[in-house]
Amino acid sequence: MGPLVNAQTPNPASSVHKAIQNHTNTIFDSLVAIRRDFHKHPETGGHEKRTAEFIEGYLKGLGLEVKSGIGGYGVVGILKGNPNGKKIAWRADIDAMPWDTPETGEFASTTDGVRHICGHDVHTTIALGMANVLVNQKEQLNGTVYLIFQPSEENYHGAQDMIADGLFDLISPDEMYAAHISPMPAGLVASKPGYLYADYKQINISFEQNQEQDSIIAFTKDLLLKLQNVAPDGKFWDTQNLMDPNIGIGNPNTIFKDYTTISNNIKVEEEDKSITVIAFVSASNKKRMDSIPELLRQQIAKSKYADDLIDIIYASKIFTYSPERGNIDNDGPLTTEAIETISGIYGASSAIPLYGAIPDGRGDDFAYFQQEIPGTYFLLGGSNFEKGIIAMPHSDSFKVDENCIKTGVNYFSSLILERVNN
Ligand SMILES: [Zn+2]
Ligand SMILES: [Zn+2]
Repeated sequence: MGPLVNAQTPNPASSVHKAIQNHTNTIFDSLVAIRRDFHKHPETGGHEKRTAEFIEGYLKGLGLEVKSGIGGYGVVGILKGNPNGKKIAWRADIDAMPWDTPETGEFASTTDGVRHICGHDVHTTIALGMANVLVNQKEQLNGTVYLIFQPSEENYHGAQDMIADGLFDLISPDEMYAAHISPMPAGLVASKPGYLYADYKQINISFEQNQEQDSIIAFTKDLLLKLQNVAPDGKFWDTQNLMDPNIGIGNPNTIFKDYTTISNNIKVEEEDKSITVIAFVSASNKKRMDSIPELLRQQIAKSKYADDLIDIIYASKIFTYSPERGNIDNDGPLTTEAIETISGIYGASSAIPLYGAIPDGRGDDFAYFQQEIPGTYFLLGGSNFEKGIIAMPHSDSFKVDENCIKTGVNYFSSLILERVNN
């Protein structure tokens, strides 16, 4: 068979993406040097002074309008095109984390007890590269691009602090995107509509105090434990299986979807006139999570303790060690479209849909931006298994295949350009 597409026909849509890739290639070495510099000089949440100063200088050097000191060391670069066009934001987190095990290697952390082992040095570098590439393609942009550099992600404060400090008075994005390094191979990005990580909530079931207290507690604990629909000793609990081709999150039949789990340490709090049974619930999607209080209410209503029930609520008022937190909740149509856009430009194996929600307690405070602006949070592959590089965030041996910087700058610059012009 001959070629299906006549290679002679120029494709204007792809020429801009070719230009993006060419420009990324020319700045790639400088981006690697920037990433290594960030890596050598990590700063924890609230202390990202040096990092923010570098970002500000780099963006100003590109000629962007820059706003700094937003919610701490937050920085925003604004690339203005047609004021009537769409406004698209990209967010990178910039903080490192406290980590006691020292690092070795040529660009090891020079700050005791602080390391970039969540890859935010890579995220920051990618966003700087995107700024550079998109400035270079300014003539092709029919709208506005915002590059948001967020401090304090690890302590889950930075996004809320930037919003509280008036971020959305300064800028008004129509859509907002972000990515996080993950153990997938470099060259691959992935996402899914809805929750990418399981959500966690504290549920409080309170009853009037009475003679039957012990049996009410036992009954309620039993109801809670019956909500869990995964075996306590099964494959679900081994996070190695998240990447498994047959049961992992990339397979439509993954075991990591449609689940509810209940933590074992169910607690009981006694107050003056009430007793409250408290548990931690985790669910793979919002609908499931939202349905649980009503489900319990119905079962209690059918029991002999119906009249003793006071209330069932999600709240973290009693124990403060596990505050409720925002959860990544990707916009359905935008996420499907974004994956199609990237894989349409860079090939079917560049961007893939996921089907399961990751259950090991991870999260990202990009969730708070998503409560304001629709968009997508991607996982960006950073591993190179042949070279023994596994980009598992928060692990001692965290390493990154720096080629993922190129992938990130290319894929996400192309995506932002397509969204602005959409
Ligand atoms: Zn982290
Ligand atoms: Zn992180």
